[in-house]
Amino acid sequence: MLDTLIKNVTAVTMDDEKNIFADAFIGIKDGKITYVGTDLPAEEAARVMDGRGMIAMPGLVNTHSHAAMSLMRGYADDYVLQEWLNDHVFPIEGKLVPDDVYWAMLWTQAEMLACGTVAYTDMYMHLPKMAQAAVDGGLYANISNGAMCFNPAGYDFDTDGVTKQNLEVLEKFHGADNGRVKLDVSIHAEYTSFPGLWQDFSKFAGENGLNMHIHLSETKSEHEGCIAKYGKTPAAVLAENGVFDTRTTAAHCVWLSEEDMDLLREKQVTVAHNPVSNLKLASGIAPVCKMREKGVRVALGTDGVCSNNNHDLFEEIKLAALLQKGTTGDPRVIPAYDALYMATRAGAFAQGREQEIGQLKAGFDASLILVDTKKPGMYPVHNPVSTLAYSARGGDVYLTMVRGKVLYENGTYTALDIEAIRQKMEPILNRLFRA
Ligand SMILES: [Zn+2]
Repeated sequence: MLDTLIKNVTAVTMDDEKNIFADAFIGIKDGKITYVGTDLPAEEAARVMDGRGMIAMPGLVNTHSHAAMSLMRGYADDYVLQEWLNDHVFPIEGKLVPDDVYWAMLWTQAEMLACGTVAYTDMYMHLPKMAQAAVDGGLYANISNGAMCFNPAGYDFDTDGVTKQNLEVLEKFHGADNGRVKLDVSIHAEYTSFPGLWQDFSKFAGENGLNMHIHLSETKSEHEGCIAKYGKTPAAVLAENGVFDTRTTAAHCVWLSEEDMDLLREKQVTVAHNPVSNLKLASGIAPVCKMREKGVRVALGTDGVCSNNNHDLFEEIKLAALLQKGTTGDPRVIPAYDALYMATRAGAFAQGREQEIGQLKAGFDASLILVDTKKPGMYPVHNPVSTLAYSARGGDVYLTMVRGKVLYENGTYTALDIEAIRQKMEPILNRLFRA
């Protein structure tokens, strides 16, 4: 007996053969996909969903977020990056208590589910509460606490607050819910720390088999400041100190040199490209075509909503393709399929989940979305890949399923009580912004 059978659906599988099936069946049992294709499975199903007028695709992977920044949505727009951070973001972050992060992350996960995201890679603070929110939210989450220190003399890895939280989460949460929640190690960025810290945290990642998450060459001044300080680019100096020796997600990479790209390919680093955030903060346009030509894996992220201001990966998909067409003068680059690949399989690899998510394929987790093509802005569908990449918005997502469980369907959440979460946010917002 199948748990769920989706029928009459257009299935964009993202598998190795790039199969797209019209009038397809998707069989789901025990959280896994058992069948995708055009033959009706012999087994009965407990729930049959009619997918007529819908496209099924793998759930999206957001490879760079700061989920709890949803508290600051629309709070500090149209500032230059350093002023934005120092005068607006950091003072609010200094007032955050662990429970603030918990509720804000639940809120963000609700937004992500409604926009078709099933997995995210998050860097923030108050890591144990991040972990609890990830467990409760129901999405796949790679969470990390970005290590930073401006005072090498006062730094000690063993007593560092981030180390303590990493150890606590490693013990209590890493691998929770059969691997759905994972601890990553994070170094915030080159310019917010120093070689001794990079070596210690990289060693910790290696010893515990954890992925690394870092901001890399986001702005021109950061990239050039590093060259002035160390005589090398951020990518080169971080690599020398072991930072890319475990599976790494490097966010932004707007200012990479060609040598940096070669290095990232060699080290199998995934670039988390955040086109909306990069444009909004005027950081620049990452040379995604060049990176991909050189064999660097590029995935997509939203960054925090204080620089976005939403977690809708469909915006990133479209913009990632359009920016490269516009800047190279060649409309053939980053075709629609490649943009979807960045938001699915590339992200799955970055998280170390490439055998679980990112494809509609028998044996993979049933972590998928249904996108409604009956709406005025989505019809007609001449090519479902094009519809997904260029027409779809997060609001066109009808259903989001993680491991066979429907977490969001047609405006309704099955596990999260969003009105209750919003009520928890009210006093937090009053304390942070109105006190
Ligand atoms: Zn970021």
